[in-house]
Amino acid sequence: MKLLRLELNRGLHEELFDISVENISADTVLSGHKSFPCTLSAQTVPTGFKVFGTVDITFCLVCDRCLNQFNSSVTHHFEIWLTPDKDNADNGSLDMIWFPDSMDEIDLGPIFHDLILLEVPYSKTCSESCKGLCPTCGNDLNHERCSCESKSGDPRWEVLKELNKY
Ligand SMILES: [Zn+2]
Ligand SMILES: [Zn+2]
Repeated sequence: MKLLRLELNRGLHEELFDISVENISADTVLSGHKSFPCTLSAQTVPTGFKVFGTVDITFCLVCDRCLNQFNSSVTHHFEIWLTPDKDNADNGSLDMIWFPDSMDEIDLGPIFHDLILLEVPYSKTCSESCKGLCPTCGNDLNHERCSCESKSGDPRWEVLKELNKY
């Protein structure tokens, strides 16, 4: 995902790109996806260039409650600043990138990799109403009820009952 200084100088307006994710190795959450569509604009600013737009990301996740696989899509809005000032770029922020005047092009691939991995949802549930698995028999309660459900109740409430004794 390279941008030429020439293109940046000219300015980009909602150009369509594909962000390749084939090099994102560590994570299985992207399995099945080779690239994500990205709409990108760029303009000159006093400190360098501002590159901004959206990328549509689809993750393949495993539900925390029922363990089924599901797809989850997010539209990520990004804003990246390219600056020739190394001190500015070194302030540790992910979206401030050093782009010295001597470079004719910049590879935004690694930056998008980081942005995409930051978007992986922390809590993964296939739907808000997912009933999960029966803690006793492992039955998927979204599809059918099982007979142990009423007997045992929710074990989490049992813990609370214990706590209330003190
Ligand atoms: Zn689920
Ligand atoms: Zn059960």
